[in-house]
Formats: sequence, C-alpha cells, structure tokens
Amino acid sequence: MASRTAIRRANLGLVLRDLNTHGSRSQTQLAEDLKLPKATVSTLVSELIELDLVYQTDATRAGAVGRPRRTVELRGTAICGLGVEITVDNARVIALDLRDEVLLDREIVIDRPDPDTVLDAVAGLIGEALGSLAESDSQVLGITIAAPGQMDRDTGVLRFAAPLGWSDVRLVDGLVERLGGNVLPIRIDNDARLGAVAEYAVARTEGIHDLLYVTGGVGMGAGILVDGQILRGAMGFAGEIGHLPLGRPGLACPCGRSGCVEATVGVTAFLGAITERPHSLRDLDQLMTTLRSRADAGDPSVLAALGTVGQGLGVVVGMLIDVLSPRAVILGGYFSYFGDHLLTHVRGAVEARAIAGQAGGCEIKTSTFGFTGPARGAAHTALEAVFTDPVACMEHAGR
Ligand SMILES: [Zn+2]
Repeated sequence: MASRTAIRRANLGLVLRDLNTHGSRSQTQLAEDLKLPKATVSTLVSELIELDLVYQTDATRAGAVGRPRRTVELRGTAICGLGVEITVDNARVIALDLRDEVLLDREIVIDRPDPDTVLDAVAGLIGEALGSLAESDSQVLGITIAAPGQMDRDTGVLRFAAPLGWSDVRLVDGLVERLGGNVLPIRIDNDARLGAVAEYAVARTEGIHDLLYVTGGVGMGAGILVDGQILRGAMGFAGEIGHLPLGRPGLACPCGRSGCVEATVGVTAFLGAITERPHSLRDLDQLMTTLRSRADAGDPSVLAALGTVGQGLGVVVGMLIDVLSPRAVILGGYFSYFGDHLLTHVRGAVEARAIAGQAGGCEIKTSTFGFTGPARGAAHTALEAVFTDPVACMEHAGR
C-alpha cells in the first residue's frame, strides 16, 4: 500500500494537471474533478502555494447572483521544461512553462551534420537558452532532446537515424560533457513520439486520448498514443512507418529499398514534384509558407504535388486507422502548412479504403504547430515530473 506521503504528493500533481488541462478552477471544482474531499483540496492548494506553483485570485463576483468566487491559478513562469529538436540541417530549442506557454523559441542552422559539430552547436544553443531563462527567473526542470530515428532512452544513445546518417551517437553523455557537467536531467526520445506528446497536450483538453501523429519532414515517422500513453512496442521502436512499402512502386529510397512511404510523400519527394531544381531545405518554414501562398493562388504544379502526396499519405493513414482506431490523426511538419489543399486528398483516399475511416469517428487534421511540434513535445516531457511529484521536483530544482 502506498504511503500517505506518496498519495499526498501524487494528489498535488493531480491538482496541477487539472489546472493545466482546464485553466483556472475553484477549489469546489477541483474537488469535483478529482473526487477528493474539499478539505483535502484546500490543504493541497495551500501546499502548492507554498511551493510557489499556484496562487489564488482575490474573491470576485462572477455574475449578478451567487457568492464571490476565488479561483486557483497556475503560477506559469516559475518553472519550465526545455525541449530541443535536432533535424538534418537545424536545431530548435523551445521552453514551455507550467501553463504550456512558450517562454523561448530559437532556431539555428547547422552546416555539417556530423555528430560532433551538431552536439557543439546544440550545447551552445542550450547554454544560451539557460542563460536567458535564468535572467527571467524561470527554473528549468529538465531538458529533452528530440531526433529522428531509434533512440535508447535508458542509455541516452541514438542508435540509428537514417535522415542524419548517424548510428550509435552518445547524445546525452556528449551534451553533459559539453555543458560542463550540468546537473539538469537530460533525456532523449524520437521526434514523432514527442510530436504526438505536443498534440496530446491540446487533444486531452478536448477529451481525445487516442491519437496518431505523423511527422512530415525529410524522414517520416508516426507517434501513437493509446489511452493517453505513448505506444513504444517491445523493442521501443513502434511507429516506424517511413520505410513501409506502401509508396509508389519502384521509386528508389535512400534506405536502399524501393516503394517506401518516405520516398513517396516525404518533403524531398514533394519538392521534387514541383520543380526539377533542387530546393534548399534550409528554411523550410519560409519555403512552405511561400508554397502555401502559391496553392491558395491556384498554382497547378503545387496543387498537383499536394494531390499526389495527399493520395499517398491517405493510403498509409487509412491502414493505420484500421489497425489502431484512433480518434484523431494529426499531420505535422510540412503537411501542416497546407490545410484543406492536402486534407481533401488524404480524407478522400482514407474514405475510399479504410473500414474504420468509412465508419467515421476519426478526425484527420493538420497540426497547428508546424515544424515546432517535436521540440514542444520534448519541452512537455522535460516538465512532466512536476505533475508526478511536485515536492520532489521542486526540492531537486533547489526551491
Ligand atoms: Zn526506404
């Protein structure tokens, strides 16, 4: 049986989670949400005020009738989580506070994607971010690194990442060495899974707990959430959809096989379909914004490329819907720029093929986070400990 202290600490985390999900709450609402006695909630709120994680508003009269109401609010900026995403040619850092507000969002271009150069650049980026956050008096609880490919979370080693051309890179040790033995916990995870975590922070508030997130970049992967939990699988690599042979038959893929999903609907294939001239993948945000404008203006080459991608993506998404039966499918990365220009084709292909899709009930939409999803999800993960045991977390943070 769990000790009373452990239960109390877990309940403190549940109060924070409830406030994170619903925004402000009265103590009566918290008691109803958490099915706890009001006296218990009152004690928990007092303790969270002591920890500087929440505050109570002054009593205000919400309407003409009824008693004045005090609400409990998260003290957002007191603590934050740092998320970093490493991609083929850039790195991005995002800090999220307790209310999921972005405190910081910076991106750098990395010229040579060899591990040492990238780790030097990423350590520099993290160091600058920590400096800025220290000035703003926000306590960083931890750092999570997102990257494409297979990540060993226990050892902090990136096992294999085809888009980066890396294998067996000691990400966590490499960063700890460069950051001068920084005591903050550093974790790693796959970009698609962390993208799904970012989407779930929103979906959870809408009562959606089963979702599928698909990355749209040079590489492709899926993050799968089942009943609010990330599906990892026995080997930890669930969601590797990029090299399923569901793409255009015979189309060569850098992995050495042909007909892969990634080779057919990844960003390189999309850009290749619009023009023969190779695009720089440097500033994908700028490039996709421009291409979105061209699609809005009816540019036939962009619309045709979106049609091809949408059809190809719909085949894969339809199969995944039949297998996993999610409530929502969210298309991230470059897909997120094109809204209905893309979704019409994806939904059409899903309805034509998927059994569950035909039955309805699964929403397919584009992400609102663009290319920032994985870094946001990483920041959420870095902050997660406070929702499990706020006391231990704040002790560790030195408050
Ligand atoms: Zn492949």
